[in-house]
Amino acid sequence: MAKAAKNNTLKLKFDTINYAPAPESKSSATIDAQYDLFINGKFEKPLSKKYFDTINPATEEKLSSVAEANAADVDKAAKAARTAYDKVWSKMPAKERAKYIYRIARMIQERAREFAVIETLDGGKPIRESRDIDVPLVANHFFYYAGWADKLAYAFPNRNPKPLGVAGQIIPWNFPLLMAAWKIAPALATGNTVVLKPAETTPLTALKLAEIIQESDLPPGVVNIITGAGATGAAIVNHPDINKIAFTGSTDVGKIIQRAVAGTDKKVTLELGGKAANIIFEDAPIDQAVEGIINGIYFNQGHVCCAGSRLFVQESIYKEVMRKLKDRIATLIVGDPMDKNTDVGAINSKQQLETIHKYITIGKKEGLEIFESSCTLPKKGFFCKPTLFTNVAQSSRIAQEEIFGPVLAIQTFRTDDEVIEKANNTPYGLSAGVWTDKGSKIFNLTTKLRAGVIWANTYNKFDPTSPFGGYKESGFGREGGLQGLGTYLNV
Ligand code: ADP
Repeated sequence: MAKAAKNNTLKLKFDTINYAPAPESKSSATIDAQYDLFINGKFEKPLSKKYFDTINPATEEKLSSVAEANAADVDKAAKAARTAYDKVWSKMPAKERAKYIYRIARMIQERAREFAVIETLDGGKPIRESRDIDVPLVANHFFYYAGWADKLAYAFPNRNPKPLGVAGQIIPWNFPLLMAAWKIAPALATGNTVVLKPAETTPLTALKLAEIIQESDLPPGVVNIITGAGATGAAIVNHPDINKIAFTGSTDVGKIIQRAVAGTDKKVTLELGGKAANIIFEDAPIDQAVEGIINGIYFNQGHVCCAGSRLFVQESIYKEVMRKLKDRIATLIVGDPMDKNTDVGAINSKQQLETIHKYITIGKKEGLEIFESSCTLPKKGFFCKPTLFTNVAQSSRIAQEEIFGPVLAIQTFRTDDEVIEKANNTPYGLSAGVWTDKGSKIFNLTTKLRAGVIWANTYNKFDPTSPFGGYKESGFGREGGLQGLGTYLNV
């Protein structure tokens, strides 16, 4: 009898995940065979004469080849940005600048489907995510900052805010278009011009954005988008005529950048790694919390610097949470990112998949207990099963180091003070989540957790009006909101 019941449960679970495929059409997206550098309002061949491939991580097929900018190309882009700043953009009335930013926002909305499809093809994230989260947020960022452009005097009363000049912006592969929006929109609203470099594995939506910028008639040189890898990024950082560096990426590269700009008058904002704690108290709405944990670490393949990669569960509810968490993991659909049913898409690159596997091996060698989804992974492409580790010690590398994949480290706690101490015991301080029914507990934790963003009874919620950024090795400076304007101004 008991055995029959168990079999029924298994069958039910299998039925739940066995949806018919619902692939998104690729017809809305055109991807050129080759992309040049967007400098001074035109697509130009790179002086380096070099190109590199960008592939679809879900199929390993080549999507396009993209120019690799060298130091001479960076110099050309920086000069274009400087001329545009001196001659046009810094002289233009703010309300005129705003009109261009509004226009870009509307054009992104009009071509939202195309952006979402290309984001998913190039980056591997589920189409549901790029369609419902990334692209709408991108348009919202442009709308939000367009609104501020002619109101800076109200944002910073009696402080006579002035733009910095040319901003060099370097972004990662986890939110390729959203990070471009986070960087470009406030820079333009505050009167700066831009040289932006997307990550080498996800350049295509930034290049599509360049097409929109060209069509919007934004004056040439105000936004320049150049592609390449680390050396191109370093050339931007070291260019003498760039006034501000805005970087989102790994803590290692953030440290290199900080060393490179030491002793110069460049301003810097760094948004780096994270190892966020998601904390569930016994009085939390458990089902809601489990869904939030799943969202925090498994949706988007854990490719979020603020991913809830450490879970702290109060001892009294540990068994219940673990049962519900494992049941939910069993229903996650892992596979084709273009399928609208998919929850967990492709890992962004082979290299990143190897890093995740390295950490899973470390966890096993450390003697931690592992549980992973029983799903079957596609034969081609870079995929990883949603995985969790229990019995994790504070000193475990799984609990201390950023993995940037769908791997959750679970620990238990008894008291508020204990969990605050454990949660803060990491070099990072980007984000955290608290799940409880008690407002007083939320206030207690939000004041004591050393994290830039803390969500209460929700997770991974973004809005252009709220500032985002970290403490400690997660970086400094804020993006989003009013605070995101200040980092592009002399006030
Ligand atoms: P991740 O580990 O998330 O890939 P990285 O920090 O390596 O993050 O990359 C983030 C961005 O920084 C990418 O656009 C990458 O090309 C760029 N980058 C890598 N190395 C350097 C460097 N030394 N200087 C400036 N930018 C760099």
